[in-house]
Amino acid sequence: MKRSTFLMALLLLMLSLTGCGEQQRRESHFAMDTYMELTIFQGGEDGAEQACFDLMDAYDDALSITNRLGDVGRINEKGTAQVSADTVSLIHTALEMARITKGAFDPTLLPLKELWNIAERTEEDPLPKAAEIASVKAFTGYEGVSVAGETVTLQEGMGLDLGAIAKGYVADRCAELLLKKGVKEAIINMGGNVRLVGQREFNVGVIDPRGQNGTLLLTMALSDCSIVTSGDYERFVEVNGVRYHHILDPETGSPAQSGLCSVTVIGKDGAMCDALSTAFFVLGVEDSMKIIKEHRLPVETIFASEDGRVAATAGIGEKINLKAQGYTLEVLK
Ligand code: AMP
Ligand code: MG
Repeated sequence: MKRSTFLMALLLLMLSLTGCGEQQRRESHFAMDTYMELTIFQGGEDGAEQACFDLMDAYDDALSITNRLGDVGRINEKGTAQVSADTVSLIHTALEMARITKGAFDPTLLPLKELWNIAERTEEDPLPKAAEIASVKAFTGYEGVSVAGETVTLQEGMGLDLGAIAKGYVADRCAELLLKKGVKEAIINMGGNVRLVGQREFNVGVIDPRGQNGTLLLTMALSDCSIVTSGDYERFVEVNGVRYHHILDPETGSPAQSGLCSVTVIGKDGAMCDALSTAFFVLGVEDSMKIIKEHRLPVETIFASEDGRVAATAGIGEKINLKAQGYTLEVLK
């Protein structure tokens, strides 16, 4: 019965496969509620790092649920607001991901997030009652978001939360910016959300969701893609043997109980990977695989289950080096 400490340690560990003594520039920055780490291996004009951090700050201002003056803050405060074309584009993507995942990813769970308040909850706090969950859940549902031009409107009592997709989207925009600034090879690490820039292969590690102090579950060599992990070990409280964590099942209104403890999604589109890692965590292996096949989604996925199974899609299975004891690896058909 111990409260988790928020893992400030990086959720994915990067090790360059090539020359250890090589010149590299690494800088950190706190934004979007996490420590961002940018490592540039090759290229890039002076100030590329700062430009990238400034961009993260600008998106943080626009998309944060706690900044009343930002795009999301204004939508939530008034129920309707005119926002930037960028925010509109992200909201369209979020709604598309909600449709594809049949609502398992839902960007309107803010009232439930506030009810559960996992970030500040202790094991002594009373859990929400079923009736409370039901009455709050009535104010969620992505169909309640409408977008007309650059005006976004929510149905009465609803709240927008892009927290499960924003970092993936911002990682893509930062990668574009770095390339424009002449960077050839870089790693943008945004907590559990990583973007590899350029053609170089990096050895990427995924944290063991039940390990101590960031030990690795597995490693794999990847290039030019996003790697996004959603897990139940980042923020949680445990009460009577049940783990209450920050990923909510929109159907039950409570933390998801799919038997998974972490899901990693790999692909070219960071926003898609981010939204899917959250949705797949809710859905479990079988339903996630149905969605991947039905929509021919351009992603690879690694599911880690409570019972020690690691299941990976065919395109990534062969590349995985299992590191943690007590897990078995299965490649999904
Ligand atoms: P992630 O770490 O990307 O899986 O995102 C989790 C965050 O997204 C939570 O802290 C909530 O703010 C929000 N969230 C929780 N459950 C969902 C869900 N099913 N769909 C969309 N957003 C969610
Ligand atoms: Mg996500």
